[in-house]
Amino acid sequence: MSCSTGKKEYPTRILAENALIEIHIDRNFPPDQGPQNVYKCEFCGNWHLTSKSPSRNERLQKMIDSGEMKLKQQARRWE
Ligand SMILES: [Zn+2]
Repeated sequence: MSCSTGKKEYPTRILAENALIEIHIDRNFPPDQGPQNVYKCEFCGNWHLTSKSPSRNERLQKMIDSGEMKLKQQARRWE
């Protein structure tokens, strides 16, 4: 089953947040670019990523604030 929004579906919030963080590490986005949060879809009942959220996901924000995101992005580049 695929959602009418055409977005990738994640069955749980945790999996969507993991994907959100992974995408930021992988694509090396500046903090204010790329997907910012996750939300539960009213059409498919699964979770999607969104770049249009007014607030940044808490786990993503913590990683950015602590510098962990930068470290992981650098580590990824050196692999
Ligand atoms: Zn959906």
